[in-house]
Amino acid sequence: MFSRFLGLVFWMAVMAAMGYWYAQVLGALVGALSFTLFTIGKDLWRGQKISKWLRHNTVQEPPVLGGLWGDLIDRLRRILNDQKKLTEAHQQRLQDFLSAIQASPNGVVLLDPDGRIEWCNQTAAQHLGFDTKRDLMQHVVHLVRDPVFNKYFAQTTHDGEVIIEGRSTSLAFSVKLSVQLHAYGENRQLLLTRDVTALAQADAMRRDFVANVSHEIRTPLTVLSGFIETLQTLDLAPEEQVKFLELMATQAGRMQGLVNDLLTLSQLEGSPLPQMTEKFKLSDLMGPAETEAKGLSAANSETGSVLQTLRFDAPPEYHLLASRHEIYSAVTNLVNNAVRYTPQDGAVTCTWTQMPDHRLQFSVQDTGPGIAPEHLPRLTERFYRVDRSRSRESGGTGLGLAITKHVMQRHGGELRIESELGKGSKFSLVFPASRIV
Ligand code: ADP
Repeated sequence: MFSRFLGLVFWMAVMAAMGYWYAQVLGALVGALSFTLFTIGKDLWRGQKISKWLRHNTVQEPPVLGGLWGDLIDRLRRILNDQKKLTEAHQQRLQDFLSAIQASPNGVVLLDPDGRIEWCNQTAAQHLGFDTKRDLMQHVVHLVRDPVFNKYFAQTTHDGEVIIEGRSTSLAFSVKLSVQLHAYGENRQLLLTRDVTALAQADAMRRDFVANVSHEIRTPLTVLSGFIETLQTLDLAPEEQVKFLELMATQAGRMQGLVNDLLTLSQLEGSPLPQMTEKFKLSDLMGPAETEAKGLSAANSETGSVLQTLRFDAPPEYHLLASRHEIYSAVTNLVNNAVRYTPQDGAVTCTWTQMPDHRLQFSVQDTGPGIAPEHLPRLTERFYRVDRSRSRESGGTGLGLAITKHVMQRHGGELRIESELGKGSKFSLVFPASRIV
């Protein structure tokens, strides 16, 4: 800075000296004045160029200037470049944040102090039926037309969450959303949405299950207590007592069957998937199943002997890599159901088929009453029965097919059901090729 000043003084002295040499004192004054005016004019011209550059928002390249102004421009340019980089970094961070919020499985809506939508991610848009562009700056209560939400929004504090119907709810399928408001910044609010349909369904299923189990146990329990009371209060003849005890044993058996099936289900749900380490011969499995079916058929017949036509085809000479205990319960569930639901003069036929893709199918075909098509998709639901009293009379718990389906799924196989009302039913177990050796 000082050297520049000295330079200026030097050139002014040179100009004054040249003026003096030409026209003495007046010449020196004119020389010094011209130099001063020239320097001021040059500075004004440079200042003007910088001002023009700054006015154009520094988009254009800065002017190339020497001297003090050139230094100034260089510094300005460096400061501007640093700021540009900082702004770009901030913008990138903002984009990263927005992308992260977009990727969230939960809905996020940013509301301004008046409750208008400033921004929302795709999930929130889908949950609440917003259009991420068109609905910006719309008031949220005008778009979420749910009385529960409106009441919640109107509260001064928002502790906890509320459950509302999602926009995609239809008559056939109800979508439940958990909605929560959080205050942030200066009177702004964050609206969070979460799809809780699966949780609500699981909760409803749990409630139904408990209600069903209680109902199933209450019926035989009521009958049993009635008999106990009768035996305690009435002086019954020995043969009558025997009859009552038999009826009590039947009810106790029903409860036992139910508890056993419930335990089986809970074991299936809680235990790890069956490994490929356990191995058994199919023929070893079918022998006991056939004996059990014959015993059941005889017990059900009025004469005490087997009247139904029971045909068990010999299984192929394969081994199954599976849990013997679980597969046995799946096979006997199907065979015993066929025996239970088929009339005494009917037939139950068990066959094995090797499928073209090397899977193996075990089928139980009966000539029973058959099942109407509307019941078929629900047969494997817990406690679902086509004919309640018929199922109970024959010792059914309503859990057999649910267990069977579960067992097959655990083994990578499937349960298939075909039936025609009045003609009979065919229940099949399909085993994956990987489990057959
Ligand atoms: P349940 O113990 O009541 O037999 P399941 O889960 O084994 O329970 O079967 C569910 C329902 O499916 C039964 O209540 C019955 O209505 C129907 N069902 C099962 N197998 C047959 C069959 N072979 N023929 C006709 N209906 C059947």
